[in-house]
Amino acid sequence: MILALAFGEAMQAEVVHQVRPNETLGGIARKYGVSVSALQAHNGIANPNLLFVGKKLKIPSSGASEVTYEVKKGDSLGGIASRFGVKVSTLTLVNKITRPDLIRVGQKLIIPIKAGSAKPASQILSSTVRRSLDAIRPKSGKWTRIVIHHSATPTDDAMNMHRVHKARGMKNGLAYHFVISNGSRKATDGEIFMGGRWKDQLDGGHMKSQSYNRTGIGICLIGNFELRAPTNQQMKSLEGLCKYLMKRCGIPADKVTTHKILHRNHTKCPGKYFSLPSLIQRISS
Ligand SMILES: [Zn+2]
Repeated sequence: MILALAFGEAMQAEVVHQVRPNETLGGIARKYGVSVSALQAHNGIANPNLLFVGKKLKIPSSGASEVTYEVKKGDSLGGIASRFGVKVSTLTLVNKITRPDLIRVGQKLIIPIKAGSAKPASQILSSTVRRSLDAIRPKSGKWTRIVIHHSATPTDDAMNMHRVHKARGMKNGLAYHFVISNGSRKATDGEIFMGGRWKDQLDGGHMKSQSYNRTGIGICLIGNFELRAPTNQQMKSLEGLCKYLMKRCGIPADKVTTHKILHRNHTKCPGKYFSLPSLIQRISS
């Protein structure tokens, strides 16, 4: 029964659009009220400029999306499901898996990403986090974008990063404004650490370009997302923090971006298993 429901939900709102001459992905996205990145993610389109006439595009319902995950050594279906916050039964259905105990390294799994909670930041963030955020007054007009990073290390904590950055010659220490833990070392999973640069409203040190450091709020998620996806708790905290900062600083959802989008060919940060389209959907709902 639960299986049937999960499948029904995933299949329900499937609309297909056949590409006509002179249509662009941007135009089609506007027509259906979805983002270009959601269309790309849903149809596995790497280059949005290469669109063939006659191609059938699946239009995501304005809440749902999916990402592809390649099974790594040591993964279990249960572990993958909990990382992405989906049910094992949903994964077996969507991927037509008959033996959940028999997944193989390199196998590609489709992971349906749930729509955002549609909850405002005030309901996602704990009252403690909200109080400490409310206590800081953002410099008016200074912050125009949010840049997401990963630590590229499986475990770490904000205070250690602070010391490392200081030792590297950054006088203000921790290069990011915020760090979101994955539960390694002393922090709890999804814990939000506010850095001194946010408290004092200082430029970040997370980008090569000084203009991005002056205008971009840097958020770093602990973990190596070239190897695995962020935890469900990290994504929840990120959703809450982004929603809060967007509202407080007047930043639109399309200015929430990643290190590698701003510095192309220079970094893989925040890794291939960080899904910007799914974050954009969460913060747009
Ligand atoms: Zn980065």
